[in-house]
Amino acid sequence: MDDLAFKEWLRAEALPLGFARVGFASCEPFESERERLRSWFSAGRDAHLPYLDAETLVDPQRVMEGARTALVGFFPYARPDAIPGALPGSLKLSRYLWGTDYHILLKPRLQKLLTKAQEQRPGLKGRVCVDTAPLLERQMAVRAGLGWQGKHTLLIMGKEGSWGFLAVLLLNAKLPPDESFATEHCGSCTACIDACPSQAISPFQLDPNRCMTTYTIETEAEPPPKVAAAIAQSGWAAGCDICQEVCPWNASPIFGDASLWGQPNRLHGEPAADLRLGPSQWRSRTRRTALRRVRNRHWRRTVDLILGDSVD
Ligand code: SF4
Ligand code: SF4
Repeated sequence: MDDLAFKEWLRAEALPLGFARVGFASCEPFESERERLRSWFSAGRDAHLPYLDAETLVDPQRVMEGARTALVGFFPYARPDAIPGALPGSLKLSRYLWGTDYHILLKPRLQKLLTKAQEQRPGLKGRVCVDTAPLLERQMAVRAGLGWQGKHTLLIMGKEGSWGFLAVLLLNAKLPPDESFATEHCGSCTACIDACPSQAISPFQLDPNRCMTTYTIETEAEPPPKVAAAIAQSGWAAGCDICQEVCPWNASPIFGDASLWGQPNRLHGEPAADLRLGPSQWRSRTRRTALRRVRNRHWRRTVDLILGDSVD
């Protein structure tokens, strides 16, 4: 099989794993991102993301030596029944938290694909990255032709929207790349910037130090007062989807296949007042979900912030 045929074979094998789209990009360093990242770090935007650094992020070789090609897949997670806060009295949890933990789900699938690919090409080496390595996945997806980065910085796949996980399989084989996505289609829209309750977005930049997701998922640090007020008022207890909900490109998004993703977590449909869970309840309710990374005391603090003294 020549390189082009091998690439198309990989794509055809990857799509039935649940990816709506699969593209291929070269693993050259992202030179154009270097300066932007340096100023992002020097402005302290990484305060709650201590595992990142600019030099590693721009160069996929730091993640896998010898990487020449990245297979990038978009795995849709939106589903028609996942409307955060739709059930009266429930808390809002980001859509990506509704099914089985995407790390648990996607890593073995891509690992199996790698094993199959190695049977086709002995000597092929690869590394699976599902939000588990310091990679610029969104920029890689743009380079692989999947879409553009919106003003909220997430990847938008045109009319198919932005509700998706990005998963990457780095390979040491040099395969012909797909055509990169050259233009953004946000135009004069500012809906995400206007809607963010904690003013975390400026065009094509997001300040994690002001984003509600940072303080409900990534860190137990106290949110700044404005962010705390936004969490309390908006009711987003884990993550936040506001900037994607208002995006016109998500009007008719591509939905995930529940059979490829698992059933919703019970937490989404329970009254908020019942969600001041103790450690063992939290462990059992968050088993095999991406919420497991949030510690129980952190969850309790967020729920207390939202519910105040109104119940319990
Ligand atoms: S996720 Fe929510 S808080 Fe964060 S930038 Fe988007 S709208 Fe703002
Ligand atoms: S809401 Fe508007 S500005 Fe923001 S990402 Fe979507 S199209 Fe772009």
